[in-house]
Amino acid sequence: MRKYIVAGNWKMNTTVPEGVELAKSVVEKSKELPSNVELVVAPPFTHLASVAEVLKGSKVVLSAQNCADHAKGAYTGEISADMLASVGCTYTILGHSERRQYYGETDEKLVEKMKLAFAAGLKVILCVGENLTEREEGRHFDVVKEQIVNVLYQFTAEDMANVVVAYEPVWAIGTGKTATAEQAEEIHACIRTVVCEKFGAEVAEDLTILYGGSCKPSNAVELFAQKDIDGGLIGGAALKADDFIAIALSF
Ligand code: PEP
Repeated sequence: MRKYIVAGNWKMNTTVPEGVELAKSVVEKSKELPSNVELVVAPPFTHLASVAEVLKGSKVVLSAQNCADHAKGAYTGEISADMLASVGCTYTILGHSERRQYYGETDEKLVEKMKLAFAAGLKVILCVGENLTEREEGRHFDVVKEQIVNVLYQFTAEDMANVVVAYEPVWAIGTGKTATAEQAEEIHACIRTVVCEKFGAEVAEDLTILYGGSCKPSNAVELFAQKDIDGGLIGGAALKADDFIAIALSF
């Protein structure tokens, strides 16, 4: 069964006390949500242990925003998948466009990270999406297809049960410019087809595909009404509990 998910990527925002307060508000307001929607919060690494405490006994689950591409050892400043699992993460986001753009995250590196995440028992929210030039040149389908093939095709149908894909057109992230519901839906449908070609119809049907890019309460209803859009990866609007919950109530 396909799961509906609304995930909040807090990026490098909030201090630990602010993050704990935000998590408490999300937990409190999550009681209004129907049980078929999973809420996920992805705070910075420094917040994970404190936020995990706040989430205990709630239906909100914890995600990291990244993990290391090595299992352990002399990698100063890195955080391993095992460490994330041990602090209570269910998910890690991987391949966010900010990491691809600013930190040299390649598809090859993502494959390594995903293997480590799965070995640690984590699920992965894999981000894909084209930049503005690629969209203007009409290459958006090819770019997204290539990202899916380069990364997901290295895994098995069993692994796919632990994958969520987030389609995030780079030109829509943090810009206030949202993809139209039609633009988003046609890429989501394409992702599902590409997954179907490798893993079969059942895996493709069960795959949760999130939309990300300036998603907010005012546009979530139309986006989530599309047949291949199963929720959202939310940046800016996830920093306000009211907006985040309003988005999750948009199904
Ligand atoms: C994101 O960075 O994943 C994102 C979708 O950001 P925003 O909602 O702020 O565009």
